[in-house]
Amino acid sequence: MRIVTVIGNRPQFVKAAAVSRLLRERHDEHLVHTGQHHDDELSAIFFEELQVPRPERQLHISGGTNTDQTARMLAGLGPLLAEEQPNVVLVYGDTNSTVAGGLAAAQANIPVVHVEAGMRSFDRRMPEELNRVLTDHLSALLLTPSQTAMDNLARESVAGRAVLVGDVMVDVALLFQPRAKADHHPLRDAGVAPGEYVLATSHRAGNVDVPERLRKLVDLLLAGDEPVVFPLHPRTGARLDAAGWLDELQEADHIRLAPPLGYMAFTSLLTNARAVLTDSGGVQKEAYFAGVPCVTMRDTTEWVETVDMGWNVLVDLDRDAAHAALHRTPPAQRPELYGDGRAGERVVAAIDDLA
Ligand code: UDP
Repeated sequence: MRIVTVIGNRPQFVKAAAVSRLLRERHDEHLVHTGQHHDDELSAIFFEELQVPRPERQLHISGGTNTDQTARMLAGLGPLLAEEQPNVVLVYGDTNSTVAGGLAAAQANIPVVHVEAGMRSFDRRMPEELNRVLTDHLSALLLTPSQTAMDNLARESVAGRAVLVGDVMVDVALLFQPRAKADHHPLRDAGVAPGEYVLATSHRAGNVDVPERLRKLVDLLLAGDEPVVFPLHPRTGARLDAAGWLDELQEADHIRLAPPLGYMAFTSLLTNARAVLTDSGGVQKEAYFAGVPCVTMRDTTEWVETVDMGWNVLVDLDRDAAHAALHRTPPAQRPELYGDGRAGERVVAAIDDLA
């Protein structure tokens, strides 16, 4: 089959690492990079480190509001799909690239395969939640990471066929985490020792685009004296700079700001951290796989099982709750969640069945 896969940002490059090479053993895949994340730090390094095939097509679409960016992607993808004539369009996760790829394909009567289908935070203020719901209802084949996702899709009576394949990010984590953990160079660069720091990330619009919320985030990070390594997402860096708060973080002794890191350096810092503080979707799971307790700066999560197991605590931007959660003792048990590391194989098998 001819498959067009639409990707565009950091977590999608990680997810494609679990699928693209396997898919290409049996099918003719063209990767389309929308350009949503285009700088080397957020894009090129992931293709190199995770050996994702180089995209065949680039749309160079980034910036603007979500509405504007999605519209430009649709305008670019329509003619591209007419030219490529794929049998299937594959999309991952919950970004503008996901919904644009799904809608452009569905309107051209091309079956859509959605990997990481069925995830819900039930918070419709999140752009990601809208993208998830819309893409799921456009898709012919919905490949889910968990039974919770299957139940969500059943409740919404989606039209496509849902299959539980597990989470493709587990495949990538199992492959790369042991090697990354053994490499302490990124810890040395950040001036921290294994097990003696917190790794923080933040980039959700709801936390960084609203100045009062961004201020709470800064105050939360400034409290305490344990070293905090904080690789700055460009969006967060820009918002902090515009608000004039970047200096405060730079000047705090315990905070180690860093540029956005490649997957291997980030995974080294994650697997060796005492705890993780984040509002990322992917990082919550990766912390669980690594056995590192997580504190999530949101009041909802799609990855509810990590909370149910006691490894993840939702604190929103409450400074005291965050610091209490950072110092809790993690549970003794950490059962397998989201699959056995062979989700990529099951994705390909489910696509084979479509043929
Ligand atoms: N990540 C990375 N470098 C960083 C921050 C994150 O390689 O500086 C990786 C992380 O390991 C995970 C993915 O990027 O695989 C998560 O992406 P992000 O937090 O941007 O997106 P989300 O998962 O929230 O959609």
